[in-house]
Amino acid sequence: MRFKYVAVEYFCMTQTQTRLIDGTEVAASIRSELISSVRRIDNTGTTPQLATVLMNDDPASQTYVSMKHDDCEEVGIATRDIEIDPEAPAAELFDTVDELNADPSVHGVLVQMPLPDHVDEREVLRRVDPKKDVDGFHPENVGRLVAGQARYKPCTPHGIQKLLTAANVETEGADVVVIGRSNIVGKPMANLLIQKTDGGNATVTVCHSRSDDLASKTRTADIVIAAAGVPEMIDGDMLSSGVVIIDVGINRVETETGSELVGDVAFESAAEKADAITPVPGGVGPMTRAMLLWNTVKAAAVATEVSIELP
Ligand code: NAD
Repeated sequence: MRFKYVAVEYFCMTQTQTRLIDGTEVAASIRSELISSVRRIDNTGTTPQLATVLMNDDPASQTYVSMKHDDCEEVGIATRDIEIDPEAPAAELFDTVDELNADPSVHGVLVQMPLPDHVDEREVLRRVDPKKDVDGFHPENVGRLVAGQARYKPCTPHGIQKLLTAANVETEGADVVVIGRSNIVGKPMANLLIQKTDGGNATVTVCHSRSDDLASKTRTADIVIAAAGVPEMIDGDMLSSGVVIIDVGINRVETETGSELVGDVAFESAAEKADAITPVPGGVGPMTRAMLLWNTVKAAAVATEVSIELP
């Protein structure tokens, strides 16, 4: 496929040109290529289907779920939208997951996090059929990823890997610093980058809240992937010239006129050092959404035994 990204000029003190890695554009390109795969599966009489289960009243979670449904609609994936009262017993969620697991018309099952305190998140993740676990969070799928036999790569790190490829950033032999060790971003990101495959073969340092002297690590990095959830914690002083920066963070901060979204990276000062950088918003976020569609199409292709080539 033809990946496109936009190179923009900044008026940097260093006079260098910094490339903006445009996740919105790369994600749109992936979505449009997925349409033909969905059609091929559709032609067998089965429409790929994603079921989402929401068990919280958080407006942000409701927005995330509805965006996932819109994305599915755009590429022709059918959706099922299940909402469970957050006060309901955990058994109601488990029963729902069991029903979706058993339903052959459903190919992907996504339980939106967070869950109410009385529901054990780990038990829910274990409950989803690993073949329908399009988030890639089931322990079986995590193990497969670590072993280099990924079934579903978790959406955010997979999207980042695609973005790096789209921006022609070579990971082989690169020193990568991943900031954050969560199960959904930091750990799978590090695991993907060390695999002996295209988009891997990197030397990875994983930093976290107990790491000492973060700047001494980030300054040695060819690629920095920031996923700490701390607004603008990485600035230009912590980076070397020519670095590639992937900013995963999404943080809402108060401003004089209201609020705005910022990443974990102080964009302007970091851009002065960077060869390439992702914006927030419009960088990693759209890729996360696109890779959920990818995993759902893959699940449907396996279930229907249709051979497809994913973008
Ligand atoms: P998390 O809270 O589960 O993990 C944060 C990690 O950062 C932890 O491992 C912690 O050790 C580390 N950390 C925290 N403070 C640190 C510090 N000062 N120095 C070094 N490490 C530090 O968060 P998460 O779910 O991994 O998400 C991280 C960020 O990415 C959040 O802002 C989240 O909103 C965002 N996110 C974005 C997307 C997307 O699609 N763009 C997807 C997932 C998460």
